[in-house]
Amino acid sequence: MIKSLNILMKSIFYFLAFLFISTTYTFANSPEVTAVRIGGDENKTRFVLEINNDITFRTLSLANPNRVVIDLDEVIWKIGPGGAAGQGLINNYRYGLYLPGTSRIVLDLKKPAKLSNSFVIKGKGRKADRLVFDFERISQTQFISGLSKPELRIKRESDREKSTAYSKLGKKVIVLDPGHGGHDPGNLGGVKVNGISEKNVTISAARNIKKILEGSGRYKVIMTRDRDIFLKLRERSLVAHRNNADLFISIHADAFSNPSVRGATIYTLTEKASDREAALLAARENKSDVIAGIDIGDEDDIVQNILIDLVKQETMNLSNRFAGELSAELKKAVRVRKRSLRSAGFAVLKGIDVPSVLIEMGYLTNRQDAKLLMQKETHEKIGRAILKSADKYFTKNSAFN
Ligand SMILES: [Zn+2]
Repeated sequence: MIKSLNILMKSIFYFLAFLFISTTYTFANSPEVTAVRIGGDENKTRFVLEINNDITFRTLSLANPNRVVIDLDEVIWKIGPGGAAGQGLINNYRYGLYLPGTSRIVLDLKKPAKLSNSFVIKGKGRKADRLVFDFERISQTQFISGLSKPELRIKRESDREKSTAYSKLGKKVIVLDPGHGGHDPGNLGGVKVNGISEKNVTISAARNIKKILEGSGRYKVIMTRDRDIFLKLRERSLVAHRNNADLFISIHADAFSNPSVRGATIYTLTEKASDREAALLAARENKSDVIAGIDIGDEDDIVQNILIDLVKQETMNLSNRFAGELSAELKKAVRVRKRSLRSAGFAVLKGIDVPSVLIEMGYLTNRQDAKLLMQKETHEKIGRAILKSADKYFTKNSAFN
């Protein structure tokens, strides 16, 4: 009896010791939320968290009353008493630890709203990262219809189950999409510089990137095209859908009227472009189908079915997470634009239920970029940056799968 009590005491001791150690551990490593900023009006509101470390998050909407829930990795709140008044679409917000390892913020909505975009702005130097959530007003009917789509989740899970042999081998599937091809040469900005068209740069870069990714043993790479052939934008994203891909990366090279502009940029999909330049670029890239005289509105049933807000939102969140990782790695590997992370309405990224980004590797209209983009070493640098960021992205997201 005494002996078993002893064992019990011992176990309690070890349990407490473990608890203490794990608590200390969490404390030492938890990111800190250092500020909350809200701006906007009752049509559009931006909610920003300043965080001093990398973090993963996901969002969820709830009705009666209307709320948006943001779940984060466990954080330390350095912003006050646990709640405050909001602004615009946000009546007020509350926050705290939800479960061990998960912190939660609840935004009580003044008017029905949807999350139109969310992304991370990496802080430079010692500045905190900003986690940005943009909300747009919608009708109550839209809010309610956007809440529960259980059949969709089931569909996505069964999609995953019928996954190919690659995932059984423990490999993630990445679809690389070399932009343009065939009678769509892409931009011809480099022709004057070194006689090279975008479609040739994208295919040779993609081939070298594929070698780097597959060389790791962790990824199976499928190319949307492996020759000089034309593909509709929709067909490109369908390659990712049909192969149940884990990531879709469209590869391009840009052109600009000012030949001194150079550096890489990463784009994600948004309804509204992050800036005028991004909007113009998307318009140019989207011309790919127009060149072939194909109606972009011509979508098949699979695509129609997945064009549902929930999937779009979840996919957009994941895309932004990967884009954030990629931006950090690409900066270390090659020259990037000052604003290396932008967004716009790229048709090739639309209607795809796979996290996706589009990389403009540099400017063919810039002499140095044009030269570098023809070199295998540059492609390999980009490939290694993609590899590192994919590794980080999949490690961080494994908790969600
Ligand atoms: Zn392009």
